[in-house]
Amino acid sequence: MPTELSIHKDFDLSTFNTMGVSSKTSHFVEITSLSELEKAVQFAQEKNLEILILGGGSNILFKKDFDGLVIYNGLKGIDFLSDTELKVAAGQNWHELVLFCVQHGLGGIENLSLIPGSVGAAPIQNIGAYGVELEDVFVSLEAFMLETYEIRTFNKTECNFGYRDSVFKKELKGKAVIISVTLSLTKNPTVNTSYKALADLIKDKGIQNPGIKDISNCVIEIRQSKLPDPKKIGNTGSFFKNPVISVQLFDQLKADYPDLPGYPVTERQVKIPAGWLIDKAGWKGKRMGEAGVHTKQALVLVNHGNATGEEIWNLATEIRLSIKEKFNISLVPEVNIIG
Ligand SMILES: Cc1cc2nc3c(=O)[nH]c(=O)nc-3n(C[C@H](O)[C@H](O)[C@H](O)COP(=O)(O)OP(=O)(O)OC[C@H]3O[C@@H](n4cnc5c(N)ncnc54)[C@H](O)[C@@H]3O)c2cc1C
Repeated sequence: MPTELSIHKDFDLSTFNTMGVSSKTSHFVEITSLSELEKAVQFAQEKNLEILILGGGSNILFKKDFDGLVIYNGLKGIDFLSDTELKVAAGQNWHELVLFCVQHGLGGIENLSLIPGSVGAAPIQNIGAYGVELEDVFVSLEAFMLETYEIRTFNKTECNFGYRDSVFKKELKGKAVIISVTLSLTKNPTVNTSYKALADLIKDKGIQNPGIKDISNCVIEIRQSKLPDPKKIGNTGSFFKNPVISVQLFDQLKADYPDLPGYPVTERQVKIPAGWLIDKAGWKGKRMGEAGVHTKQALVLVNHGNATGEEIWNLATEIRLSIKEKFNISLVPEVNIIG
């Protein structure tokens, strides 16, 4: 074992996941350089340990203890490749990057303010909020490939981004460690106020020509009023993806539920809010032991204190079964389930 790596055994992950479940990993290491990453991977492979890359732990549910090596990403640094292009190390905090860009007058990610987690995890599910997705500003990323130890550059096409999706959740799941992300921002941004709640708040505040700082502040204000703070009550934001269903099923449901919201995705597909379905099925504010559905936002599952990952998962399973039965729709978790 490389002496300079500090590998912890039987390590408690309760402060490393925003759901706050008290799970353990058999091995844990924090890496702060590429050579440490390489050594950590080598260590795991020699010992035949499964590898899990961990950022902020804000999109992960540990259903049970993890038997393997958790590699906590501590790669830091922001480099200007040009006036408007930034190469950012994967362990940087996402929201701090947004604030950095706003401070430097660089537009493009202000609508993604206050999303918890690391820069390296942002491409995994193509993070999105308030009318903007990561792919809108994405240029490329560098990844350390676990099988070959090579550093591979992925452009936007190769990432195959979709709604809360990318190649790293499919073919390359568990095969690549993202080490940096390059973004293209803009000096003279046209702000995006397409999202109604955002446009309404800007209007209510009497802001005439909103700039990127106004957008960031308003997004922060809306998010703080709507979403529970993981520091106060454990959660992972949206637990499920918004389902995309056929127009045919949408029309059938609309006959029974005239208030069902729907947003066309293609001519034949409609996206509907999973939170609406969960609320309509009577789950909002419900509890199963220490696991619960948030009182304001039915899409968010919460840990009322001492819920285990298994309890949260059991609640999620009950919700999925009830939505399938009531609406004939299969909900898919947005959160990465471990175990
Ligand atoms: C209150 C709250 C609000 C949220 N709001 C939003 C929102 O508006 N929009 C949105 O899209 N998401 C949202 N999320 C989800 C979450 O913030 C994002 O998915 C974020 O990108 C996760 O980052 P992380 O570093 O915490 O990832 P983690 O939870 O640590 O990891 C997530 C997954 O990515 C993998 N991974 C992490 N880093 C790397 C890496 N460097 N290389 C390879 N794989 C890696 C992990 O193995 C895991 O499978 C929210 C979460 C919370 C708690």
